[in-house]
Amino acid sequence: PPRGGTPRARAEIDLAALRANVRTLRAKAPGAAFMAVVKADGYGHGALPCARAAVAAGATWIGTATPEEALAVRAHAGLPADVRVLCWLWTPGGPWREAVEADVDLSVSDPWALRELTEALRGTSRVARVQLKADTGLGRNGCQPDDWPGLVAEALRAERAGLLRVTGLWSHFACADEPGHPSIGAQLSLFRAMVAHAEDLGVRPEVRHIANSPATLTLPETHFDLVRPGIAMYGLSPAPALGSSADLGLRPVMTLSASLALVKEVPGGHGVSYGHHYVTPGATTLGLVPLGYADGVPRHASGTGPVLVGGKWRTVAGRIAMDQFVVDLGGDRPAPGDEAVLFGPGDRGEPTAEDWAQAAGTIGYEIVTRVGARVPRVHV
Ligand code: PLP
Repeated sequence: PPRGGTPRARAEIDLAALRANVRTLRAKAPGAAFMAVVKADGYGHGALPCARAAVAAGATWIGTATPEEALAVRAHAGLPADVRVLCWLWTPGGPWREAVEADVDLSVSDPWALRELTEALRGTSRVARVQLKADTGLGRNGCQPDDWPGLVAEALRAERAGLLRVTGLWSHFACADEPGHPSIGAQLSLFRAMVAHAEDLGVRPEVRHIANSPATLTLPETHFDLVRPGIAMYGLSPAPALGSSADLGLRPVMTLSASLALVKEVPGGHGVSYGHHYVTPGATTLGLVPLGYADGVPRHASGTGPVLVGGKWRTVAGRIAMDQFVVDLGGDRPAPGDEAVLFGPGDRGEPTAEDWAQAAGTIGYEIVTRVGARVPRVHV
């Protein structure tokens, strides 16, 4: 925030809550190592401080999607050297050599990636650590079961040539947040079979893993050697079907708030914001909240998003614009500069990110990850 002035808006990040969430999740998977997933700038919470806090609470692995994220963690997080960083979303021409030199573990789903990696390592004495990713039913990244023997064989050839070590076998769930979904058992059986096949061919993995947040919280048989939660570490429930954060013993880490920019009286029949989708039902007061869709406030929550102002829930009146939106204060007169809280843990009576997800027809993941770069993160 700028010095000396009231900040327009801020996202306060409660690192003590994040540490407590990590401990809660570790207690659910006592035999497994903990990978803190900090992709997408720590789901919008700041990857580096969140990685440090997670490690302080017992995480021994950090998970990222892009190689750039992994390299940033290695270069700037100041983590102990024995904390491992796994990166799983590669595209042709990626920074293979830089990642290996920075001691990043790489995930591979396809022979093209193995070929690029081994090519990039020519002329170095570095040995890459590679985890092979299986598509056991997500239908996204990962190697198809039919192609698995070929991928494993090619990885083992590179291992014998001294270029890499296959240190992990892993996969990702499609429907772990839907209790009882038949795909969960099917993916688990296929994962076990693909791991066994790779081990028969000679792979000696350090870690086998498949559990995201919902699996970490509710499916102990999926924990294997390591769990890989993201959203739950940030204190949000993966899905309403699993209960709220509080039901799961988690505490939301981010509080998004702004300072009211303007409070004014208007007569009844006054059209509010673009398109006049809200018309004041009678004489009232309006408050201007200086956050908009450029800050990640979902435009879909126009007319539905909840905001705490002066101890009461107000609803977004009319359309959310790029930088600002309006709430109907119903005649109350808070002062400019007073706080408007969009979401937080909920214990001051404020809405939660889950409430915003519902108001916008989306998921809590999207609410927190989309908070824009223009909103300063204040880590406390
Ligand atoms: N593992 C992988 C490969 C992911 O892509 C993600 C995020 O989507 C996670 C783990 C963490 O998932 P969640 O935030 O549901 O715990």
